[in-house]
Amino acid sequence: CQALTYDYIIVGGGTSGLVIANRLSELSNVTVAVIEAGDSVLNNPNVTDVGGYGLAFGTDIDWAYQSTNQTYARGATQTLRAAKAIGGTSTINGMAYARAEDVQINAWETLGNKGWDWDSLLPYYLKSENFEIPAAFQITDGVTYDPADHGESGPLDTGYLFNIVNGTIAQTFNETYANVGIPWNGDINSGKMHGFSTVPKTVNVLANVREDAARAYYWPIANRSNLVLFPNTSATKLVWKNQTGDATAAGVHVTSSNGTVSTIYARKEVILSAGALRSSLLLELSGVGNPDILTPLDIPVVVDLPTVGENLQDQMNNAFTFGSNNTLSGADSFVTYPTVGDLFTNSTSTFATTIASSLSEYAAAVSNASNNVISSSDLLDFFQIQYDLVFNTSTPLLELFTTAAGAVFSVQYWILLPFSRGNIHISSNDPTDAAIINPNYFMLDFDLDVQIAASKFIRDTVMSSLPLSAEVTAESSPGTSVVANNASDDEWATYIKSSYRSNFHPVGATAMMPREKGGVVDNALKVYGTANVRVVDAGILPFQVCGHLTSTLYAVAEKAADLIKADM
Ligand code: FAD
Repeated sequence: CQALTYDYIIVGGGTSGLVIANRLSELSNVTVAVIEAGDSVLNNPNVTDVGGYGLAFGTDIDWAYQSTNQTYARGATQTLRAAKAIGGTSTINGMAYARAEDVQINAWETLGNKGWDWDSLLPYYLKSENFEIPAAFQITDGVTYDPADHGESGPLDTGYLFNIVNGTIAQTFNETYANVGIPWNGDINSGKMHGFSTVPKTVNVLANVREDAARAYYWPIANRSNLVLFPNTSATKLVWKNQTGDATAAGVHVTSSNGTVSTIYARKEVILSAGALRSSLLLELSGVGNPDILTPLDIPVVVDLPTVGENLQDQMNNAFTFGSNNTLSGADSFVTYPTVGDLFTNSTSTFATTIASSLSEYAAAVSNASNNVISSSDLLDFFQIQYDLVFNTSTPLLELFTTAAGAVFSVQYWILLPFSRGNIHISSNDPTDAAIINPNYFMLDFDLDVQIAASKFIRDTVMSSLPLSAEVTAESSPGTSVVANNASDDEWATYIKSSYRSNFHPVGATAMMPREKGGVVDNALKVYGTANVRVVDAGILPFQVCGHLTSTLYAVAEKAADLIKADM
């Protein structure tokens, strides 16, 4: 087996995994293997086309995971997309580059994760980024930025598309939002996200090609002699060499695309970066998890860690479409980050009181949904932190993602910090069987209340205010024949639950938190009860961030690489 032994094995050559692969293999005395279920998409036009969002959906690079019937959302399932490709989900995503609110990263430390706050993560956001300074015409058309908020020598190209919507539309939005009390935000990547702005993308602006994790972190260094990537190869479980004290992984069982089964050995560590909907399943298949789930499936328990797969959180996305009497050339997106006060205006304090008095009930409901694996008192502490972020800071509660193209405005919108939580678990000991994925969308009233308030805010406030209202013609979706003007909250709720989709931001199933509070990994991202297994992917985020996920995941993975190096 000597030929298949490496110092570090990374499972999943995706957004996070390739950052680790790059940074560890910078050290020439270290050998690194990456195991990736997918193949190269370097020349796949469904990936490279900067205007091709959605083209890859349903193709062979889309895992298209299915949820269970969602009890609190009309019993229907949801498709949770994620990519099977070198570069992972960064190869099919919407390319928005938007970080987090500073205080919500600080909250990671408040939860018990020493060393994780905005000030210590910011250098890693900057380290990963190579920002293309906007051209003069883009600034004329509304782009603003603060150079201090951007890295200009990292691997990841970011910037503004050349076919940014031209003309005065940014100004029209800006004046409209100002009229409803929402300010222009000069750079939403500063750690203060409240307001309206243009949003940068992960893109190679000059080449006009999507920038994904593989183009940024893998292809430029793919010929390093100490780095090997096994494409079309699926990890099925970890193998252990020592199970007394902290369990030590010896390596990983893999299946190649032709069905050959083999073992790849790790001298030092195994890093799971298979994504928020996969890494927890690999832990369970390897005997790390809840004995009540593993034992009936004939999986010997190696580490009794019942919280594996719990704490799963996603956001819910709804959309409006409006016609415009202003034919816009170019295609681009704008983001708006309202706070709870922007949405609930005069009723904010009543809403705050209602939610404050519901937190114990919410904690009990989520604890119950976890089969009491996470205690309601721990959840209550957690929810209090989230409540404070929402009601006592200027952390945004909603994102409006507005695409303006041709004669159409499309506004997608999602609650940023839902309280509902669910779980993801294996259904058998066969790694090819589909998992049981239950995000519990709309389980708690707060989440639905915010989507309802957001719907009314968009229709009745934003689109009805000047100067935008003079450019907006009919609302084509949902339209007033589907949801009448002045619809009741119940009518909005019916529409929202029948038309929402996953926002494709699952996090939390291997949360970084103290073990006794429900965590799966510690503040060095090491799995509790193991000596040499880490998780580095979206699953470690203890709760949602206000931005889109990749910017934060690149930063987290950069920091994780330094933590791994520090342990060498
Ligand atoms: P991934 O990047 O998914 O990497 C996991 C890798 O592991 C994959 O390559 C997978 O094939 C591989 N893998 C899985 N199981 C195995 C196994 N058993 N063996 C070997 N390999 C395995 N974020 C943004 O920042 N901006 C956006 O505009 C945006 N839009 C989005 C739009 C869509 C449609 C989707 C789906 C997501 C979007 N996101 C966006 C979210 C973001 O892209 C993801 O959260 C992020 O890429 C996840 O990174 P990750 O490292 O956790 O996992």
